[in-house]
Amino acid sequence: MAGLSSAIALAEAGWRVRLLEKRPHLGGRAASYTLPDGTEIDNCQHVTLGCCTNLEDFYGRVGAQEKIRYFERLAFADRSGRISRIGPWPLPAPLHLGPSFACFRGLSVADKLAIARALMAILRSGGRPEGATAATMLEWLREQRQTPGAIERFWRVVLVSALDEELDRTQAQYGIDVFWKGFLMNHAGYRIGVPAVPLGELYAGCRSALEQRGGEIRTRARVSGFSIEEGRVVGLVLEDGSEEAADAYVSAVPHSALLDLLPAEVVEREPVFGQLRQFGSSPITGVHLWFDREVTQEPFLALMGMESQWIFNKTRLLEAAANGSGNGPGGQGQYLQVVISASYDLVSRSRQEIIELVRKELGEVLPVTRTARMVKATVVKETAATFSPALGVDRWRPEAQSPIRQLFLAGDWTRTGWPATMESAVRSGYLAAQAILSRAGQHRTFLQPDLPPEGFVQMLVRS
Ligand SMILES: Cc1cc2nc3c(=O)[nH]c(=O)nc-3n(C[C@H](O)[C@H](O)[C@H](O)COP(=O)(O)OP(=O)(O)OC[C@H]3O[C@@H](n4cnc5c(N)ncnc54)[C@H](O)[C@@H]3O)c2cc1C
Repeated sequence: MAGLSSAIALAEAGWRVRLLEKRPHLGGRAASYTLPDGTEIDNCQHVTLGCCTNLEDFYGRVGAQEKIRYFERLAFADRSGRISRIGPWPLPAPLHLGPSFACFRGLSVADKLAIARALMAILRSGGRPEGATAATMLEWLREQRQTPGAIERFWRVVLVSALDEELDRTQAQYGIDVFWKGFLMNHAGYRIGVPAVPLGELYAGCRSALEQRGGEIRTRARVSGFSIEEGRVVGLVLEDGSEEAADAYVSAVPHSALLDLLPAEVVEREPVFGQLRQFGSSPITGVHLWFDREVTQEPFLALMGMESQWIFNKTRLLEAAANGSGNGPGGQGQYLQVVISASYDLVSRSRQEIIELVRKELGEVLPVTRTARMVKATVVKETAATFSPALGVDRWRPEAQSPIRQLFLAGDWTRTGWPATMESAVRSGYLAAQAILSRAGQHRTFLQPDLPPEGFVQMLVRS
């Protein structure tokens, strides 16, 4: 996403762009691929939120906006299968979700009062409460006197999946941003956007959008290193031995991959690069299950107090699947994907054990799955899915302009202010494009502003 967004922006500004991708397909960590039996799956369900303004802008530029379906009602289930819903009322932010929150059945009155108090602290501070960059999320929640129920069944449910990290390892400001930008400052921020097609199809328009602007995409083109002379990139070498030279270079690979592309002495000399070793990473596990019959009508469900965190009803979400194209026997069955973020405990467990664990939990939430026949199942473990938004990580996140002349950095891990998300990746791509243009004396803005805080929110912040 970082490479594609910087490429599209630069091509729009009139530059001739060549994008080199080592894999046969586009999308990086947000991609689809085909199983040996011919079924196409996403490596993992990817969702966006209404507050992801740059991702939405990017989808618009490549003609993918129509393929994202937004949902305004969020359903949460507990172990007994009881469902509570959060949805909008015709009230200004931050009150728009208030009535449904007050009726939320999965939390006690004491939990709700504690949560309301912490949300007020976020609001009053305009999303920047004191000390939030020096504490973990768990420490901050304890300072706000949150009940164990509120922590386990509310904060943890939302934040572990949004940030792919446990509360005691997450810098509090990242968690607070999720609530400030997503739930409090604008009524549209929390809407969940889910692709209605496999992820791979979202990028179908990227190639033509780039080619129409005079650019080019080469897949199966692995870069093996940058050639650097006197503090400046003079070219790059591909795995097949060929070389490329350009006026400017954007590295849009993960931070660990960048270290392999730079000469060792450059990494040692420039702290910006050496510091990349400080990043931690966290895993995500996706469990794909196909049943012989329909087991739920919900499009998706967040699970409270369980190891499985989200269930996505892929049959319902994917238009193609709804037409019966290969995701269930004769199109009658149902394909679910269960997502478990910060899945440290699952990394060393066998696929069979993980499937059994998830089936057991599904049986509690969706009792029909106990009697339904599981036609097939697969587990995708991404052991280094995202960088960990740990305390102090901001120190290691570099700007787009690197200390090496003509080398610009993009990737969800660069200094965008956002956690590892598609939104962060697109922001980084736009920032890298802007940095290149500004260096060449061309000034253009691609970066989109956040959703604005609504009037009543501004009043509360001032008070
Ligand atoms: C399982 C999982 C679930 C996720 N869920 C969500 C979600 O719901 N919502 C969300 O917003 N985000 C989610 N994310 C995070 C999101 O996928 C990433 O933040 C985003 O895709 C990162 O984009 P990127 O362009 O920075 O990096 P990448 O996607 O890693 O792209 C880097 C690209 O560089 C290529 N490359 C690497 N080395 C070379 C080389 N030497 N030569 C040529 N090419 C090279 C790679 O093949 C890849 O295509 C999830 C991530 C994972 C793994």
